[in-house]
Amino acid sequence: MTTTKGRPGGYNSVVCIKQVPDTKKVTGQAMKADGTINRAALPAIFNPEDRNALEAALKVKEECGGTVTVVTMGLPKACDILRTALMCGADKAYLLTDRAAAGSDTLATSYILSQAVRSLKPDLVFCGRQAIDGDTAQVGPQIAEKLDFAAITYLEGIEMDGDYAIATRDIGTGVERDRVKLPALFTVTDRFGELRPMDVRRVMKYKRAKAPVENGGVAPEGDLAIGQLSCADVGCEPERCGFAGSPTNVNKIVSVVLAGGEFKEVAPTDEGVAGLVSELMADHTIG
Ligand SMILES: Cc1cc2nc3c(=O)[nH]c(=O)nc-3n(C[C@H](O)[C@H](O)[C@H](O)COP(=O)(O)OP(=O)(O)OC[C@H]3O[C@@H](n4cnc5c(N)ncnc54)[C@H](O)[C@@H]3O)c2cc1C
Repeated sequence: MTTTKGRPGGYNSVVCIKQVPDTKKVTGQAMKADGTINRAALPAIFNPEDRNALEAALKVKEECGGTVTVVTMGLPKACDILRTALMCGADKAYLLTDRAAAGSDTLATSYILSQAVRSLKPDLVFCGRQAIDGDTAQVGPQIAEKLDFAAITYLEGIEMDGDYAIATRDIGTGVERDRVKLPALFTVTDRFGELRPMDVRRVMKYKRAKAPVENGGVAPEGDLAIGQLSCADVGCEPERCGFAGSPTNVNKIVSVVLAGGEFKEVAPTDEGVAGLVSELMADHTIG
């Protein structure tokens, strides 16, 4: 990434980060009998593409100045990833935790997060492309829609130019470059680059940072404070949060196991390919 011209004061970025169960460590205990995820059986990690999103924000700050604020909506344990973000270079961290948010589907999640982001008045918002547990990739674009920000998905590079960002995005067959007026929201993929390592001095500084909920209800002082927000703090309408604000109905969850079957060798000739196409059309796989 090469950042061109910034602007005086730099850019204020908000990064939405989520703590997720490590789905690479799935074992026999990972699913409950009712088909839902047994979160207790899986280690909780920083959602991989949210690490890339944080790196994007830190690069903009490094090259143009400004601030980076991270926000997560989740249980108090999610403060682990907020501390990691502070140790890597974020300036401020917020935990949005509230019983009123329990049961939120992507619509309610993006509404609550959009209200938190709105209250922070950012120039740039970064999300991961997708969370590895819910896997919908809906939350980032839904936040943008609610804030009336442009949404740029699949970000793999960004340059700043005054009140505009020039985004390089993956379009599958190559890349596209978009010039977008700020404020704007970007969803970031692993092609952006790895999150930088934690800084040793920041590790020492933030290892005792806590949210009030982790500290007997008392907010630690100064740099050690992780901000804590409720749905009401960010002006949410109760009927748009949690179960009340979630129209999604999950009818059934099934565990799909793909097993290898028979295979057929096709000759690398025109006749071989024509035969394969006819077969696929005959059994309606294509056509
Ligand atoms: C009916 C229903 C009920 C549910 N109930 C619960 C529940 O009770 N408890 C629960 O934990 N989940 C619940 N979920 C799951 C929850 O809705 C999703 O985890 C959440 O909406 C995010 O969607 P996703 O994982 O697909 O994220 P994606 O859309 O794949 O995420 C994209 C990006 O958005 C950002 N993002 C997403 N979620 C968060 C977050 N929480 N904080 C910060 N940034 C975020 C990240 O940058 C992420 O990379 C429920 C889902 C449904 C459908």
